[in-house]
Amino acid sequence: MNVKTRFAPSPTGFLHVGGARTALYSWLFARHNKGEFVLRIEDTDLERSTPEAIEAILDGMNWLDLQWDEGPYYQTKRFDRYKELVQQLLDEGKAYKCYCSVERLEAMREAQMASGEKPRYDGKCRGDHSEHSADEPFVIRFKNPQEGSVVFDDKVRGRIEIANKELDDLIIQRSDGSPTYNFCVVVDDWDMGITHVVRGEDHINNTPRQINILKALGAPVPEYAHVSMILGDDGKKLSKRHGAVSVMQYRDDGYLPQALLNYLVRLGWSHGDQEVFSLDEMVELFTLEAINKAASAFNTEKLNWLNNHYIRHLPPEVVAEYLAWHMADQNIDTTQGPSLAALVAVMGERVNTLKEMAVQSRYYFEDFASFDEAAAKKHLRPVAQVPLERVKAKLAALADWTPEAIHTAIQATADELEVGMGKVGMPLRVAITGAGQSPSLDVTAHLIGKERCLARLDQAVDFIVKRAAEA
Ligand code: GLU
Repeated sequence: MNVKTRFAPSPTGFLHVGGARTALYSWLFARHNKGEFVLRIEDTDLERSTPEAIEAILDGMNWLDLQWDEGPYYQTKRFDRYKELVQQLLDEGKAYKCYCSVERLEAMREAQMASGEKPRYDGKCRGDHSEHSADEPFVIRFKNPQEGSVVFDDKVRGRIEIANKELDDLIIQRSDGSPTYNFCVVVDDWDMGITHVVRGEDHINNTPRQINILKALGAPVPEYAHVSMILGDDGKKLSKRHGAVSVMQYRDDGYLPQALLNYLVRLGWSHGDQEVFSLDEMVELFTLEAINKAASAFNTEKLNWLNNHYIRHLPPEVVAEYLAWHMADQNIDTTQGPSLAALVAVMGERVNTLKEMAVQSRYYFEDFASFDEAAAKKHLRPVAQVPLERVKAKLAALADWTPEAIHTAIQATADELEVGMGKVGMPLRVAITGAGQSPSLDVTAHLIGKERCLARLDQAVDFIVKRAAEA
C-alpha cells in the first residue's frame, strides 16, 4: 500500500507544540513508509480562521522543515465538492433535510439533560417532509445507522468500539448551505487518498461518525492513530501559563528546529532508551505502534539539554545560519568580526540557546563605552594598570594573532611581573569583553581581533587612570 498521511490544522492561531508533534508523527510515518505527506488547511470556520494564522502555520512547518508533498489544500476552496457529495447522500436517502427549529432542539436538549440522558437529535425529520414548503430553512443531517456499532483498531489506543445508538444524526450542511467540519474532513481524507489519519486524541469522538459517513459514501476507511495530549510540567493541559507553546516562540527563544523535533519525537514516542535521534534515524525507526498511550509532560530542562547538544554537535556552519537570525534579532551587526561558525564553536558549550549566545556575543562585534560595574570594580584597579600596559605591548608586537601566540604573551607578562596568570588575565578579560566572563581568553582575544583588543586595552587603562584621579 502506498502510505499517505496528512496534517490538517485549523488556522485559528499559531502552530503550537502539540500540533507540531502531530505533524511530525504524521510526516515521519509517511517518510518511514516512503509515502506522501499532505498539508491541508481546515479553514471552514470563517470566523475563527485568519490569514495570519495560516501564515504562522506555514512558517512553523517551514522552520521545522517538515516538507509536504501535496498542498496546502484549503477547505474553503472545496465547497463545491462538499455540496456535490451532500447532494449525493440526499439522493441516495443517506441524508435528509431537517426543519427542526432552534427552539425545538433547545427544548429537547434541556429535557434530555434534565433526565440525565446524553443530548442527541431524536430523528424527527428522518421521515416525511410533505408538511414543509420549499422556502423553509433547513439543515442536512447524515442518517447515522441506528443498529450495530463502529469498530476501529486505533494504532495507538487499540480496538475501539462505539454503539451506533450513542451517535445521533450529525448535521453535515448548515442552513446557510455551508458544510460542517466532520463532513469536510471525511470528504478530504477520501479525495486526498489518506491511508493513515494521525491526529490529536481530542478528535477520537469524531472518528466513529466519520467512519459511518465514509462508509455511506462508499469510501475506504483509513487507519487511525490518536495521539495523546501534551501536559505542562504540573500535569495540566499545556498552555501559555507554562511558557512558550508556539513553535515560532521556540525559534525566537533560541532553539534549533533539530532540537525541538528531537524533543517532540521523544515526547510520546520511544525507541529503547535512546534520547538523541537524527532526522534520518527518526525516519528509519518511527512506528505508530511505539507511540505512548499516556499523556506526556513537557519538560523544558530536557529540551534545553537537547538544544545544547545540537548546538555543540551539529556542524558549526549549520548552527551559524540559525545564529545569524538571532544576531540580527539582537541588532548586532556581524559584518565586521569573527565568523559565526567560529563563534558557535567557542560559545557552544556555555549556553543552552542561540538567543543566549547572541546576547553574550555582542562584544565580538561591537565596541563598548562602559564596563560591567562589578567586574570593573574588582579587576580594573590601579594594580592592573601595569599588567595591562605590558600585555598590550606584547600583544601589539605579535606578528601572528593566533590563540597560541596570545596565550604566550599573557604568560610572559605574568612571568615578567612575577604574578599569577589571573592578575593579568582577569583585567585583560574585562578590558576586551567589558565583563568578567568569557570563553578562554586566548581564543576570545583571537576572535575579537588584534586591532579591537589593543584599542580596548587603551580604553581600560584610561578608565583606571581616570578613576584613580577621581578617588
Ligand atoms: N483541524 C483539526 C484540528 O486542527 C484536525 C482534524 C483532523 O486531523 O482530522 O484540530
